[in-house]
Parts: sequence; C-alpha cells; structure tokens
Amino acid sequence: MSGFSTRAVRASAHGPTVRQRSTAVPIFQTATFAASDSDELADVILGRVPGFAYSRIDNPTTAALAAAVAELEGAEAGAAFASGMAAIHATLLSLVSAGDRVVASATGYGTTRALLTGTFGRLGVNVVFVDVTDHAAVAEALAGAPTRVLYAETISNPTIVVADHGRLAGLAHEQGATYVVDNTFASPAGCRPIEWGADLVVESATKYIGGHSDTTVGVVAGREAAIEAIRLVAVDTGATAAPLNAFLALRGIATLGVRVERQSRTASALGRRFEGAPGVLRVLHPSLPSHPQLEVADRLLELPGAMLALELDGGREAGRAFIDAVEIPERTASLGSVHTMVVHPPSTTHRQLDAAALADAGIAPGLLRVSAGLEDVDDLEADFAAGLAAARRAAGAARERRTPVATTS
Ligand code: PLP
Repeated sequence: MSGFSTRAVRASAHGPTVRQRSTAVPIFQTATFAASDSDELADVILGRVPGFAYSRIDNPTTAALAAAVAELEGAEAGAAFASGMAAIHATLLSLVSAGDRVVASATGYGTTRALLTGTFGRLGVNVVFVDVTDHAAVAEALAGAPTRVLYAETISNPTIVVADHGRLAGLAHEQGATYVVDNTFASPAGCRPIEWGADLVVESATKYIGGHSDTTVGVVAGREAAIEAIRLVAVDTGATAAPLNAFLALRGIATLGVRVERQSRTASALGRRFEGAPGVLRVLHPSLPSHPQLEVADRLLELPGAMLALELDGGREAGRAFIDAVEIPERTASLGSVHTMVVHPPSTTHRQLDAAALADAGIAPGLLRVSAGLEDVDDLEADFAAGLAAARRAAGAARERRTPVATTS
C-alpha cells in the first residue's frame, strides 16, 4: 500500500473514461500528457505520431480551435495563440529575416505598426507603409526592392478602409511576396480572404470570434506548410493559446454568424442615422453609399461589419465629451463584443503614433471608433444623440475659449 501523498497525487489525476462524445469541446486544463512508454513520448514530441505531450507545443482544446478557424476561413490548417498580437508576431517571424522587406498598409492597428517598425525594425527588417487602396502605389512599393510580405487588414482599424484582396494578392504574388491579411474587423462571417487569394489570414479572436470580451486569443489560417512554420515559432516563443481561452473562443464561434449579422445591421443603422447630423463631419461604414471603397466592400464583404467610424467636428474635446456622455457603450479600448464600445483611437489604440503618423494613417483628432454590440438599436440611437449634443457643446465651448474676446477701447 502506498503512502497517503502518493495515493493523493495519483487519485487527483484519474480521469473518467467517456464513451459518449461531448457536444462542447472539453477544456483540457493540463500542461502535460503522459505516454505509455518512452518510445511513444519521443514519437509524439518529435511529431512522428499524432498526439499530445506538453501544452506549450499542443493541446486538444487549442487544436480544436485552430481546426475550427481553418474550417471557417477555408484554409488547410490553422494555429491558435495567446492573443492576436502573438499570432501576428509568429506569422511575420516565420516569414522574414534580417534584411527582408515588408510592405504594409499605412492604415491599420497601431500595435501591429509598432511591432513592424519597433521589434522587427530593430531586428533589421525594412518596413514600407503604403495606401493599399492605391494599387499603383502598392505595385511600385513591391517592385522597389525584393519584398517578402504584403500586409493589409480587410477592414482597417480604425478608419474602415476596405482592402481589395483579389488585387492585392495578385500584386503580391507577381513579385513573389506572401500576402498576409488581418481579418479581425470583418471576421470569417464577413469575409474569407483566402477565397480572394490571401496566403495567410491572422485574426484577433479576442474580438468577434470570442465575442464576449472574456478571453484573449489569436488565430492564423493558411496552407499546411506555412502554418507548420508558424507553429514552430509559437512553440519556441511560448505563444500558444491557453486551453480555457481556446474553449471560450470555440464557444463564441457557434454564435459568430448571428452576432455579426445583427451587429452589422445595428452599425449600418447608426451610420445612416448620424451621417450628416450636426457636429458630425464624416461617417465611415462599408454599407453607406458614401464609403470610398463601396464597390470593393459590396464585392468582398458578405456582411458589412459592426465597426463604424464617426469623425466629430471639434477634435479631441468633442471626442472626449461624446465618450463621457454616452451611457450604454463600455469605455474600453477593445471591440467585437456583445457590448457596444466607443474608442477614441488617438488617445488609446493608436497612441503609439505621433502626429505625422496619425495623419498618414488618416486618423483625425475627432475620430471615434464604434463597435456595435447586441443592445437594441433604438436605445443606442438615443444614447448617441445625447453624446453628440454633449460633443457639440464641448466643441462650442472650446471654440469660445480659443476666440479672443473683442474689447472696446
Ligand atoms: N488586429 C487588429 C485589427 C486589432 O484591432 C487588434 C486589437 O485590437 C489586434 C490585431 C490585436 O489583438 P489582441 O489584442 O488579441 O492581441
């Protein structure tokens, strides 16, 4: 008979044998998997036989998420990461070395831009930013020097620029570059870039795929060989998704279609209601006839998406007053949730950008990024109208402060 502690350690790890298939993917909350002998362990670790050894390398819940995303994106394979940035980092690191060149969209998520210029720049990677809606400029940038990667977002954060994946993939491939797309804003319910020629699709599953602001996860999908190279980076850097986080993203996937459909309708309604309203300079949503890439959006997007940008008259003061006045939206820096979220990018998601980079990325000081949630649209419209009234008052007060008072003498 073993001692108490030996029995306790063993007893705590006896899992039940389950003959019936669980209808949700179980959370394999374990760091390690035991093999029946040392040969099996070596075979699994070296990838000679399928199986699991250590959750930094692979885990069944995480693998299920990777497979689900590959299926949704129409890709051969997928991989899941601790966050969207971990997925973007591992994807780029699998493709570039010192001296290589990346051509990236000038409009896009601030941290991706910082990753490219900061971390990759420090390692000797050259990055050129370009307006991806100007296809002649993209062709010129790609032809300027051998380029490993062309990088764009389906719908850009935060300026809602829609990239024409068919054209961009063609231009990248003509020059031997890999076309990598961040599909976070559209989600696979709205666009599947691989169907348009993209080589790799990365996504912050923290956003629409997870959908409830309760997990941070990233995913990438593409051809088997490319994903294997990315997975090796993840194993070396420890960027793999945790099983509970992967489970939450899987649970989100089940309702992705209905959420994005309803949220797209709400964003569209808010766009129509506030375009041209007093105090609003511009509204950007792919469903509006005024959207600069309307033809591309109609062709590529099955759903126009729940992300909307409002440019307020009155700059920072107006933006801040709006955010402080509205009562329904959560004041956070994220997006893609059941909750409506309003963000002022110059002071949050794009704070790394200086004034020149902000202007280059088309981000005006009064720009608000709205992520429409699942609340009732009438409530949101009334709340936004109150926010706009507060923004107009703040803009008026700021103008008065700046205008010198006329004196009689
Ligand atoms: N890509 C886009 C377009 C994003 O908006 C974000 C986050 O906001 C990311 C990537 C990074 O995702 P995560 O926060 O999951 O690392």
